[in-house]
Amino acid sequence: MRLIFLGAPGTGKGTQATALSDKYDIPQISTGDILRKEVKQGTELGQKAKNVMDQGGLVPDDIILKMIQTRLSEPDCQKGYILDGFPRTITQAEGLDDILGQKSIQGVIQFDIDHEIVIERITSRRVCVDCGATFNMITDPPPANKVCPRCGGKIIQRDDDKKETVQNRLDVYEEKTAPLVDYYDKKNVLYRIDAAQPVQDVRSNIETIFEKISQES
Ligand code: AMP
Repeated sequence: MRLIFLGAPGTGKGTQATALSDKYDIPQISTGDILRKEVKQGTELGQKAKNVMDQGGLVPDDIILKMIQTRLSEPDCQKGYILDGFPRTITQAEGLDDILGQKSIQGVIQFDIDHEIVIERITSRRVCVDCGATFNMITDPPPANKVCPRCGGKIIQRDDDKKETVQNRLDVYEEKTAPLVDYYDKKNVLYRIDAAQPVQDVRSNIETIFEKISQES
């Protein structure tokens, strides 16, 4: 199954993608996670991306497309994948179509939610610097010692999850990413879910969509 999880930051795409990637045994590909790894390793790409990311902007399309092309050519992507946080612009979506050719995307799940809820969710989000596991100070707080129960990594608040940058990320989303809803609707692969529901309900909505897509393919 070749899927895209689309939606503003903080809508729960990452949480759902992690759970469903485990359940269906297909990789979750998060361009944000790949970029954070590059930043952490201090690579040339990481150094270029860091400033843009800290300010909540978008890393240039050509860099992102090269990164995705490399990742999708790896053997674990043969059986399918969930793209999380990519594409984020029309240029990226068109570039992805070129990369995939006949093996096009089968489903795009749009996570719908009010921006006020998103702001609250993002500013209360905490993540593990090593494995990317996410926590929420209100609904799913991390252990008091801030050590990840999954991998032993340190749990932190991402710089770009701080209140100052969140509004900018949402503005960028509206301007650059929201037009993708129409783009995929026209291709008849768009499904919308109410991402303000409890995590388990969102998950079961997505599982229903997964079943439908896998029966059709
Ligand atoms: P995320 O973890 O998906 O919220 O991504 C964190 C940051 O990485 C974003 O705010 C962007 O600066 C950058 N980023 C991640 N994915 C992309 C993408 N597909 N295109 C451009 N920039 C991206």
